[in-house]
Amino acid sequence: MMETIKAVCLFSGGLDSILVIKILESQGIDVKAVMFVSPFFEDRSLGSPATLIETAWKKWQITLEVVDLTEPYFPMLKSPPHGYGKNLNPCIDCKILMLKKAKKLMEKTGARFIATGEVIGQRPMSQRRDTMRIIERDSGLEGLLLRPLSAKLLPETIPEREGWVDRESLYDISGRSRARQMALAEKFQIREYPSPAGGCILTDPVISKRIEYMLKEQVEIQADDIALCRVGRHFVWDDGTHLIVARNQAENARLTSLAPRGQTLLKVRHFPGPLGLFSSRGPDSAKLLTAAEIVCRYSKARHENSVEVQATEVKSGRERILTVTPRWELNGIGCSHL
Ligand code: SF4
Repeated sequence: MMETIKAVCLFSGGLDSILVIKILESQGIDVKAVMFVSPFFEDRSLGSPATLIETAWKKWQITLEVVDLTEPYFPMLKSPPHGYGKNLNPCIDCKILMLKKAKKLMEKTGARFIATGEVIGQRPMSQRRDTMRIIERDSGLEGLLLRPLSAKLLPETIPEREGWVDRESLYDISGRSRARQMALAEKFQIREYPSPAGGCILTDPVISKRIEYMLKEQVEIQADDIALCRVGRHFVWDDGTHLIVARNQAENARLTSLAPRGQTLLKVRHFPGPLGLFSSRGPDSAKLLTAAEIVCRYSKARHENSVEVQATEVKSGRERILTVTPRWELNGIGCSHL
């Protein structure tokens, strides 16, 4: 009996990776899809690993393994050997990290190669011909990394040379147009797939700045800190003091649930308004008062002269009432809007 060839495919949930799995399966290859999750991309807002696995199977009959990349991601993000893209996105090292992990899975499961949905010229940093070569080399996968959508435009890989995969049935897609992928979706009867969204917050200029600030100011960063970077308006002082002001009801709930133990929640009394989350390195009542003034500025009490703000220490639950005047002007107080 002929041995079934196994492969591991990086799965993002987008059309390109779905297609790659279908292309390989149509050649009789047994494909194990692996999805990497982290607070930066494909975060928990998409659901628990169990939900992701169930969705992949229900929608596309894809067998999925979900791997959390958070822990190794932080040290890489602080100083990626191949640098950042336009924002804080270390795309080349991010891909290398994922592929190194996928290589381990390949070895563990007896798969012979790895496939990705990468398309030459689709992304400015990680999907250029030269960087694709670097990614293949630095992940230790020389010859074993197949990009079926662009394979005919790339040097032949071992799976093609060895006849595990039929190169002639692969594709020569390049660039940012989605037309050929959509035609392939028709061919493989893939009716439901997410639009190509920028699912990675490291490419977002505003959130990138906040994460960069946290990486610089905090000794230890955790997934919840990154989740906080997605929430509210951020105000920072030169000494690392930080205020986040929610923008709506949902963000109020998010701030409350994410509030780290060493921080203080600020709530305007007697008027509807946003919550603030304040943190400073040491006791600093002057900055706490300024933070309360800023929070008032976004509340219904913004035109009042004297407003009470409840300051609750998250860790101890200790409460204080501060009386302040809403602050409209940030100039001259050493605080900036991130
Ligand atoms: S966009 Fe984000 S997830 Fe994608 S390769 Fe770049 S850093 Fe990684």
